[in-house]
Amino acid sequence: MNKNSYNIMALAPNTSNKRETVCIFGTGDFGRALGHKLIQSGYPVVFGSRNTQTSSLIPKGAEVLSHAEAAQKAAIIIIAIQRQHYSFLTSLAEILHGKVLVDVSNNLKINQYPESNAEYLAQLVPGTKVVKAFNTVSAWALQSGTLDASRQVFVCGDDMEAKQMVMDIVRALGLTPLDQGSLLAAQEIENYPLQLFPMWKFPILLSLGLVTFFFFYSLIRDVIYPYVYESKDFSFFIAISIPNRICPIVALILLALVYLPGVLAAIIQLYRGTKYSRFPDWLDKWMLCRKQLGLVALAFAFLHVLYTLVIPIRSFVRWRMSNRILSLALKNETEPLNTTHAWLSDSYLALGILGFSLFFLLGITSLPSVSNNVNWREFRFVQSKLGYLTLILCTAHTLVYGGNRFLSPSSYRWYLPNAYMLSLIVPCIVLVVKFVLIFPCLDKPLTQIRQGWERNPQYPE
Ligand code: NAP
Repeated sequence: MNKNSYNIMALAPNTSNKRETVCIFGTGDFGRALGHKLIQSGYPVVFGSRNTQTSSLIPKGAEVLSHAEAAQKAAIIIIAIQRQHYSFLTSLAEILHGKVLVDVSNNLKINQYPESNAEYLAQLVPGTKVVKAFNTVSAWALQSGTLDASRQVFVCGDDMEAKQMVMDIVRALGLTPLDQGSLLAAQEIENYPLQLFPMWKFPILLSLGLVTFFFFYSLIRDVIYPYVYESKDFSFFIAISIPNRICPIVALILLALVYLPGVLAAIIQLYRGTKYSRFPDWLDKWMLCRKQLGLVALAFAFLHVLYTLVIPIRSFVRWRMSNRILSLALKNETEPLNTTHAWLSDSYLALGILGFSLFFLLGITSLPSVSNNVNWREFRFVQSKLGYLTLILCTAHTLVYGGNRFLSPSSYRWYLPNAYMLSLIVPCIVLVVKFVLIFPCLDKPLTQIRQGWERNPQYPE
């Protein structure tokens, strides 16, 4: 036999490696779905139930026995029962002794009980090895095979061997186990499925706050002011004009807020002279939701593009254009081409198109399927360098839009500047501070600090 044939043998499946029987307590939705998946993956499955009569709902090939009989047939028992019914397990303590109990349960509320369900199970049946797993996978996803969005299974437990056995099962089902450590992590794992978009909360609340503020701001300036002073009814601006004012403003502010925490972190590191001191909690949280902030900003930018595309077909715009042409014709006048104005208008559009294209690219590269295919340096290049370029282009787009109206007193109504002027405050601060930070006298020490150098190693936490 040559050397290669050994390799081929090593790769061949080990037919003698028979799967161990898995016991599932509870023939409810989750127990049946998990049983079905286990049988598909080659595991003999035995159900422990209050009712030992098999039904058409029980996966084909599985046995249904009493709890005590079923537990004796397997080393691993998956408890697919709600926590409030666990008490009957104490009567099985002797049979369950030394076995691995897998707690898959979830609660209805975050931190519903003082201890996690898995810790409660471990206290209820001492002498067993409790492992928390599978609670983030839904019965429906297991049954239908649509597990793409939830392939990760958090696993935790105090017994390494037991945890390993459960992780092997997770892998055999085609899922990815994520070891979360000891049973102390169970509470967090149980809270996980109850959280509603935790990373999206801040970006969504912030954007709602900004939208509300700029809506009323624009309403006062663009609808109420002309009504009071000129008796003109521009209330229809609420449908397109005002949203098309709000969307780019919110998009630009949110995009700047993606880069502001990085700039603040740099200032803090420079001030402290170390990277080994924790940032304040609020900054940590802000940094963690930068991707979500960016994606919400992209959604607003996208809406701005859509609103802009319909401008030529708006009845108000067509009325204004035809009116202007008619008044010129009636006066027998022509309007000479204003090249400065044409330049400003084309530059404004060009900057907007380029800014939005890069913004779109940033959004695409933040998707896991794309970011998994680029290395860390490429990802950083896109998110940092191209990100700043996008911010520069979008800020320039707004600045050119303002043109020479910034200082004109007619653009102020009730002393309120045009809303786009307010949107420039945060981006300009971020860009100016970033520009200052790239000066060698600041960039060099900052790079050293980020490589682990400390100016004052004793800096307190
Ligand atoms: P379920 O459909 O209500 O089934 C629970 C099963 O528990 C029942 O079918 C019953 O099985 C058993 N049971 C009920 N009362 C009992 C009692 N007094 N004593 C002993 N056994 C009792 O619930 P499920 O949706 O399958 O959920 C089961 C567990 O999985 C829960 O802890 C849940 O949090 C967790 N989970 C569910 C999902 C999901 O998508 N459904 C996802 C993740 C985790 P027998 O009639 O066979 O005794």
